[in-house]
Amino acid sequence: MTWLSASREHGSLSREIAQNVKLPHPELDFKPGTPLERREIRVSEMDKCIRYLAYNWRGVPVSNRFSATAKEKMEKGNLIQDRVRGVLIPNYSRYWVIGWTPELLVRHHVGGVTFTGHPDGFLYEWRTGKITSVFECKSTADYGFIQCCRESLSNPDHYSATYVHQTNTYAGMWNAAVPKNQVNEMTIFVYSVGGKEDKDVGAPYKEFWFAHSAKLFQEDKTRLTGLFHQVEADPEYVPDRPYEQTDWHCTGCSHFDHCYGIRRTLDPAGRSAGPGNVAESQQSVTGRAVPRRPRAAKKSAG
Ligand code: SF4
Repeated sequence: MTWLSASREHGSLSREIAQNVKLPHPELDFKPGTPLERREIRVSEMDKCIRYLAYNWRGVPVSNRFSATAKEKMEKGNLIQDRVRGVLIPNYSRYWVIGWTPELLVRHHVGGVTFTGHPDGFLYEWRTGKITSVFECKSTADYGFIQCCRESLSNPDHYSATYVHQTNTYAGMWNAAVPKNQVNEMTIFVYSVGGKEDKDVGAPYKEFWFAHSAKLFQEDKTRLTGLFHQVEADPEYVPDRPYEQTDWHCTGCSHFDHCYGIRRTLDPAGRSAGPGNVAESQQSVTGRAVPRRPRAAKKSAG
């Protein structure tokens, strides 16, 4: 049988991409046992559990690395973001998205701490030639998408409010770094991975607009720098757990084992998110027996 020989080395292009691409999730490359050395607050983590933040700032190694399933979800989210920024918006709207390739790093120094962040881009209105808005894209499952649309990201007690805090912080950092080109608006684009359509838009995505708030930016900086210095000043201080271990914050948390002193295992599909997917070992990581928590009763259909 005739068969083809390789015309050039297989994998050369994918290797070139892998070597040059800037990983959007540096923690994926985090080496267990290597303490983080930084006086830095990542804006993408500002909505995290305060106990999680304290562990990170102390350089506690993560005890639960991302599963293959979680990495797959992140990679899908990146692909969706690129489709939104590189195809949908520039081809079908009056805007281009700039500042996402190459990825922009924004830094803001305050009170001995550095805030760092990578906004998803800025909206540039090509008719007027103006940068009008900082842009953030979130991909989410159907359930999250429905909730975001229902709350319009405007309920401060709903998890989607964290999108607003994060994007508002990016806008404040940008304005501090580039005072001659202030951004007074924020656009948060939410995309439903499951394909659930918003009835107003008739598509599985919807964007939410907010005016930038310098006051909220200041409040968030004060809150986080205060916590950072409290953690730094007292090596014994560990914030109380704000969530139950079956809460989604905990089931997907990379410090779960360290936080609870027990070993979290994944279900056969490698999922860790969702209360039903937490399996506890009978042994704690210190070898002591740990009582099993009763599982929540399943809701019956109808
Ligand atoms: S396991 Fe839960 S309480 Fe502990 S650090 Fe993580 S999110 Fe916070």
